[in-house]
Formats: sequence, C-alpha cells, structure tokens
Amino acid sequence: MMTNVSMTRQRIEPQSGAAFELRRGETLRVIDPCGEQVADLIAFGGDDRMEWLSSGRSIDYNDTICFTTGHALYSNRSRVMLTIVGDTVGTHDFLYTPCSRETFTLIYKHPGNHPSCFDNLCRHLAPFGVSADAIPTTFNVFMNVAIDGGGNVKVLPPRSRAGDYIEFRAEADLLIGLTACSAELSNNFRFKPIDYEIRRAS
Ligand SMILES: [Zn+2]
Repeated sequence: MMTNVSMTRQRIEPQSGAAFELRRGETLRVIDPCGEQVADLIAFGGDDRMEWLSSGRSIDYNDTICFTTGHALYSNRSRVMLTIVGDTVGTHDFLYTPCSRETFTLIYKHPGNHPSCFDNLCRHLAPFGVSADAIPTTFNVFMNVAIDGGGNVKVLPPRSRAGDYIEFRAEADLLIGLTACSAELSNNFRFKPIDYEIRRAS
C-alpha cells in the first residue's frame, strides 16, 4: 500500500498561540525559526479533556526531568500521549507553568496587562472545551532551566539556534495547545515566532 505524506507548516506569531488536533501516528515538529525562542506545549485527550499531559507522571516513569529523544510523555491517567522522536537541542523544561498575567505581576513587577502563554492557551483552547483551570504544567520546548545542587532553579537563555526543532509522535488522538512564549527572561528578552509542522499520513 502506498502512503502519501503531507506536511503543513504553520507560524505562531510572537507572543501568541494556537490549538489544533493531532491524530494518533501523526508527528508534530516544533521549530525555532530565529533562535532563542521558547514554545509552551500542552496536550489533552482528543475525545476527553479530563485527560491531560502530566509533568509529574512523565517524570515518574522516565526517572528524569531532562526530556529528549526516546522519552515518552504520559497523561494524568498514565497513558503515553507523545513520544519525542527527534530533538536537535536537548534542553527543555517540564517544571515551570506557562507564564501568566500573575507571573508578570509577581516576578517581573509588570503592572497591568502583559501577553502570556497562559492567556494565549486559554484563548485558543476554549473553543475546544478546555477551561482555564484545566491547564496544567506545560512542556516548555527549548526552555533552559539550570538546577543547582541545592535545588535552586534559574531561567537561562534558550540553547536553540535558528532552525532547531523537537519532534513528537502522537500515540493517541490529541488536542494540542502551543505558544510562542511571552516571557522576557525565557527568551533572552526578544520575542520571536515559533513554527510547527504536522506530518499526516493520508
Ligand atoms: Zn510563556
């Protein structure tokens, strides 16, 4: 049987986001087109939004907080949602929550409104039936977090260069939320777009 593979490339503009469905067996490549740009990723069950990508379960079953090619990412129900099948950077974070308006108030002392991954995820996931309170810790693609021996964490500039990517294979039908992060510190104080490609077998 012949398999046709089609690729669609999309762009997420700086400090914005997207949500889309990803079917089992499809791959999602998240690309940093300019370098030093973080993308927050979250996944929910394709048919059941009560199933979501779990940082805690993924750490439990991989015995690491450093995720890269070969690692499986689990849901709160301990099922594999995504497998990392390619990674040209090798530095990502699965500890931090998506930046939110409160992040900028509490950490950055930024008064008033500020674009955030949380707001962007809320906006794009709401039409798919995901409420704000249902958004958990995101898989923060290209986010560079240093951890010292005392457990202190520090956000450093991403190691990604223009054209670097990470690629996930969907192990179930999923709803994906994805952003181009809005936090100054995470992106070396310059906001760039994020590209993504979905490879569909048809
Ligand atoms: Zn962010």
